[in-house]
Amino acid sequence: MASVGERSDGRNSVGDVFALIRDRRDITRAEIGQVTGLSRSAVASRIASLSALGLVREREQAPSTGGRPPTLLSFDADAGIVLSVAVGISRTRLAVTDLAGEVLSITDIDQEVALGPDDLMPDVVKRLDVMLEDHPGATVYGVGLSLPGTVDRARGCSRDSPILRGWDGVELRPYFAELPRLADVPVILDNDSNAIAVVEGRGHDDVLVVKASSGLGSGIVAGGVLQRGAAQAAGELGHTKIAAAHGLPCRCGDTGCVEAVAGGWALVHALQQQGRSVRNLRDVVEIAHGGDAEARRMIRDSGRYVGEVLAAAVNLLNPAIVVVAGDMVGAYEIFVAGLRETLYGNATAQATRTLEVVPAAHGSRSGTVGGAVMVLDEVLSARAVDALVAGAGRA
Ligand SMILES: [Zn+2]
Repeated sequence: MASVGERSDGRNSVGDVFALIRDRRDITRAEIGQVTGLSRSAVASRIASLSALGLVREREQAPSTGGRPPTLLSFDADAGIVLSVAVGISRTRLAVTDLAGEVLSITDIDQEVALGPDDLMPDVVKRLDVMLEDHPGATVYGVGLSLPGTVDRARGCSRDSPILRGWDGVELRPYFAELPRLADVPVILDNDSNAIAVVEGRGHDDVLVVKASSGLGSGIVAGGVLQRGAAQAAGELGHTKIAAAHGLPCRCGDTGCVEAVAGGWALVHALQQQGRSVRNLRDVVEIAHGGDAEARRMIRDSGRYVGEVLAAAVNLLNPAIVVVAGDMVGAYEIFVAGLRETLYGNATAQATRTLEVVPAAHGSRSGTVGGAVMVLDEVLSARAVDALVAGAGRA
């Protein structure tokens, strides 16, 4: 995926210089001058603007022989915080991160059933308020909100979701605006798998992320760009029809979807039918680790079914890596044993020769971290920082 320090338009604005500093761990003023071609005084005035915003800090290097070494500039990730809300079917996860996307605190809301927005969102906002108490005075740069299913990013709501009942068309930004500290803060929405792809796909141009939790979804990065599709509905892997699910009802209202045999909810349902007391996929993963043969078989089979539909996507897109994310990461080895079997068995040799299948680097936190990173990519972009500087100048 594109590097963090994407520059706006080559004008070498304050935002461009910031992008350069954010991209490198440490950089000197002279190096900024070399890269941008800006004069010493032009570099100095841009650094002064960034220092005034608190986004950049400057420190002395250890003295060496032969004169005073130049100072080092670096991005100050402690200059503010970001809030992230990852709404799921069985769990909603809230986090506070710094400006590098490092999680500072995290809390979960466990749900027995998927709640409507009027039941869930006020609780989310109340808990964020409590989490914010640990960061008095910190500038909140934004809120990242991810939801399962298709999202209308402009309006800030779920759209045509067969899964999140009661959420379609309900604008979610007003809930956050209830908190005075969040009243003027940008709230950025996306689909949950896209949020995961933003963070787990970093460093690669062609990535396929599979989110295997209660439902199944995917995030696609092709040629360095997150692919949303013509109707923002790309990646609905879980509702691909497969023979093994023929005739079985899916929670989307249709029948025959891969989710109906491989989604976390289907595994939970099947075990409950056998009289087992499991509430969600995390419970299934737990008993699998405890040696439960039936749970282990179901997880491996789930991997097989997912690998089968994934093979077509791998043939089409030829990703460099497939990242497995979601609660299934808890049983990654069992799941991926099944997934590899059908993926490599059904995809072409060319597409799989150098393909890597890996677990999400951030584990079950990848959606939460991704929510924060999608905010940071927007609010700390060169253009956004230029706007901040312009605003500070007017104030
Ligand atoms: Zn379905």
